[in-house]
Amino acid sequence: MIMSSIPKNLQAVTASIVAAAAEAGRAADTVRLLAVSKTFGPQAVQQAVAAGQRAFGENYLQEGVDKIGALKALGAPALEWHFIGPIQSNKTRPIAEHFDWVHTVERIKIAQRLSEQRPAGLAPLQICLQVNISGEASKSGVAPHELAALAHDVAALPNLALRGLMAIPEPADQFDQQRAAFARLRALYDQLRADGLALDTLSMGMSSDLRAAIVEGATIVRVGSAIFGARTYER
Ligand SMILES: *Cc1c(COP(=O)(O)O)cnc(C)c1O
Repeated sequence: MIMSSIPKNLQAVTASIVAAAAEAGRAADTVRLLAVSKTFGPQAVQQAVAAGQRAFGENYLQEGVDKIGALKALGAPALEWHFIGPIQSNKTRPIAEHFDWVHTVERIKIAQRLSEQRPAGLAPLQICLQVNISGEASKSGVAPHELAALAHDVAALPNLALRGLMAIPEPADQFDQQRAAFARLRALYDQLRADGLALDTLSMGMSSDLRAAIVEGATIVRVGSAIFGARTYER
């Protein structure tokens, strides 16, 4: 049996966040680490929790809901769960009931359902709008020219708190290419703030492009494989 490398990996990822923030002239605590635990079991999450991690991201609804329940049953401290996968309109209720954040809202209909289905007594669901910043290369996300209207409509819904924007750019090897995509999301974010929306979150950057994302202003980086290891399956 090999000793878990999750605590060590978390330290290494945290060190790269600190280094990238310093490079960008930003305070390290302006960048939050979201540990993406999709495909990994409750024990892996528990190891990350023991190392101090509290915010986790899940892509697949049933797997995520099961894991949230499993961690409660294991007696974990209060955790923050972020839904970061594609949303089917008939599957919004469990998201509204079990998650704290949703990063992948791209249609008003989904936002309306999440707002209606958010249980009374829970804090508003924290929302990022997913933006398609790579054009044809990606099917997910609202088109940049439709973003402002969507953002204003979502901001008006009662049981949601619109926090910012999220993107998954087309994979790029070059640092400058990675930066250019993140800079486009940053520009859209700055525009919405100039329009009067009180946004504070840019969810961008994963294991392979976290430095470029932080240099361009990411406030949440979503990191999976660099913490938990390679995924043995993708759906
Ligand atoms: C899987 C996933 C991540 C994490 O990706 P890694 O390359 O494993 O760091 C981040 N964001 C989203 C939306 C994902 O689906």
